[in-house]
Amino acid sequence: MSHDITPSGAIDWDRPGRRFYHVPFTLDDAWERVRVPLYIACALRPGTTVVAIGGTHGDEYEGPVGLKNLIGALDPGALVAGRLIVIPVLNVPAFRAARRGSPLDGRNMNRVFPGRADGTITERIARFVTDEVLARAHVVIDIHAAGGGFEIARCASFHDVPDRALFRACEETALLFGMPFVLVYTSGMGTGLLTEQAEATGKITIGGEFGYGASTDLREVRWAHHGVLNVLRRFGLLASPVEALTPPGLDRQRVVVATDIDRYVTAPIRGVSEPLVPLGAYVTAGTPVARLHDFDRIDEPGVTIHADLDGYVLVRRFRAQTEQGDVVMVIGQERTT
Ligand SMILES: [Zn+2]
Repeated sequence: MSHDITPSGAIDWDRPGRRFYHVPFTLDDAWERVRVPLYIACALRPGTTVVAIGGTHGDEYEGPVGLKNLIGALDPGALVAGRLIVIPVLNVPAFRAARRGSPLDGRNMNRVFPGRADGTITERIARFVTDEVLARAHVVIDIHAAGGGFEIARCASFHDVPDRALFRACEETALLFGMPFVLVYTSGMGTGLLTEQAEATGKITIGGEFGYGASTDLREVRWAHHGVLNVLRRFGLLASPVEALTPPGLDRQRVVVATDIDRYVTAPIRGVSEPLVPLGAYVTAGTPVARLHDFDRIDEPGVTIHADLDGYVLVRRFRAQTEQGDVVMVIGQERTT
């Protein structure tokens, strides 16, 4: 089955049924255009608008593949209310180059929000998302994977937003993905995140780390696809019941907090990193969690890094070659309510 893709022209955000678009953005210094894929499906009845985005970073694949599968398989006639907007690949130039940021202007899409109408190509795409997509949303899902250097325990995530009602709504929505962890994470990574823009305007906003190493993982693609379906069920877009997506044998999903970026463990020296505990393991303060080897000094044992608090190992260095200051470990503490 193939579908016509509307190449340009006005986007119909409201008509019942589904439409595929390529939204054109003219390059900064040429006539060619970047075409950002956009899918819109509207039910006959108004309701919640759910937005799902993949490929905010160009070397993360579970979001694009899971969301492409989602829009390919979803019967728009099954939507009973509301609207689904999907951008399977947001930073198209970065995606084509298999890079985190855009090769056209060097910008990281996830640091330029809310974007600029008169800015570079990445800033202009972000501005479109802010004004046309996020502004229409009630729920925003931005699916990521860890970059080329480290691996993160599979998690849906959200920021520690001050509004407690919004916090609880984000937590409940993040749990729908069925992933082993829900991470409440730091807002100290800089400014200009897509999710920060969404939550600042009161949207239920979910991020997540669905894989690592620029690969495409089996379970994780399914979480991206079926987790979003669960969100559609929860918010009344689909009538079917929420599906259990937790892995077999998992006793419970863990909501963990790692909001203090100053406690992210960084390498004191450059070297080759060796994990001493598995990702996702529970450790107590003082436990050796990673070692950095200096291969100029094979007579030395290396520098051992110890956990500085009790909690779950959420991040490990994945690419062994490690520079001083690289994050080698993040430990999250389970949230108790
Ligand atoms: Zn990312």
